[in-house]
Amino acid sequence: MLVSDRPSLTAIASVGPTAADGRLPLIGLDKAEMAALAVEMEEKPYRGTQLFHWIYSRGARSFDDMTDISKVCRTRLTDTFTLERPEIAQEQISEDGTRKWLHTFADGQKAETVLIPEDDRGTLCISSQVGCTLTCRFCHTGTQRLVRNLTAGEIIAQILVARDALDEWPTPKDDSRKITNIVLMGMGEPLYNFEAVKKAMKIVMEGDGISISRHRMTLSTSGVVPEIERCGEELRINLAISLHAGTDDVRSKIMPINKKYPLKELMAACAAYPGASNARRITFEYVMLKDINDSEADARALVDLVKDVHCKFNLIPFNPWPGTPYECSSKKTIERFQTVLTDAGLTCPIRTPRGRDILAACGQLKTDSEKLSAKERRAQAEQAWAEKDAQLG
Ligand code: SAH
Ligand code: SF4
Repeated sequence: MLVSDRPSLTAIASVGPTAADGRLPLIGLDKAEMAALAVEMEEKPYRGTQLFHWIYSRGARSFDDMTDISKVCRTRLTDTFTLERPEIAQEQISEDGTRKWLHTFADGQKAETVLIPEDDRGTLCISSQVGCTLTCRFCHTGTQRLVRNLTAGEIIAQILVARDALDEWPTPKDDSRKITNIVLMGMGEPLYNFEAVKKAMKIVMEGDGISISRHRMTLSTSGVVPEIERCGEELRINLAISLHAGTDDVRSKIMPINKKYPLKELMAACAAYPGASNARRITFEYVMLKDINDSEADARALVDLVKDVHCKFNLIPFNPWPGTPYECSSKKTIERFQTVLTDAGLTCPIRTPRGRDILAACGQLKTDSEKLSAKERRAQAEQAWAEKDAQLG
């Protein structure tokens, strides 16, 4: 029987926007869904396993590449489904080797992905939303209004596009990898899109898929307390928290989400994070903002705050963006801050900014930029913050 109508799998229908030609995206389906699809096409379930392998492990971009699947089946797949990636609207390479891709998804929405190559690893920083509903005052993405969640397929497609661009699909002769680590630290708050993030990361972990271990994946959250435990229970990946202050007073000013989930609750969730131990510590990210959160008293408050959590710190020099009200703390101030934490026995390297020249560093991503003066940008940011803060309540 030919598949004349689209398969009725709700999972497929809900995967995401259809391609311009009306075909349905297959990227984003997990192994069970692919097996179910095969059965619906009156094929053996193992066809689903083959599809999974071709798509995520071999990087096939056309069903015709799938030489161990019959011609008839390939044609039927091609008639209904697509393996199309999001279009690359822009690709930039920083003077330090950092690469940034701006993707346009099937409905025209955009998000960015950043690759940070280092000597011993390659970290791909992926987005989970278009924009962000939150309004952390130091973050460029937080000034962006337009928001939708990315689908699991769109989250995974960011990895596939990077692998295409790096030409790193494994061959029998060469299965070396340039992308070794995945961090959910691009645009958006991953715990506000947890179902899609979870599905995508589970697919990425599969041994006969992209096959990146959960130990090499990190999810960063601004502190959506009710979802933190699930992340540890259901995904078991590393957790990073955007902490940025040691007191509720300071944190609420720069991260309005703190009014909803204050530090006491956040620390309790971190202390109870499933899987956290001295060997697998939670990372606290701390952006150094001049005269806002960078005093020795701020550092001492932090030491006291985190005493019950297996943790390490990352001190991040603030990365400026057009229209920002903040400046980065001086090198001396950052070092003084670091000394207080180190003296208390905490690990706290100072991160070297990467990709600043192409606005690819932490907190610099934004995809709806217009050509505006600094004053206009600031006004636009304040308006976006006010609207979004009102929704946050
Ligand atoms: N929404 C999630 C994931 C984004 S991760 C979260 O907030 O955790 C991006 C990281 O960069 C976060 O730790 C964020 O707080 C930090 N960041 C945001 N703006 C920054 C800036 N301008 N300079 C340095 N770091 C910044
Ligand atoms: Fe959103 Fe994270 Fe930026 Fe805050 S720091 S606005 S949560 S992307």
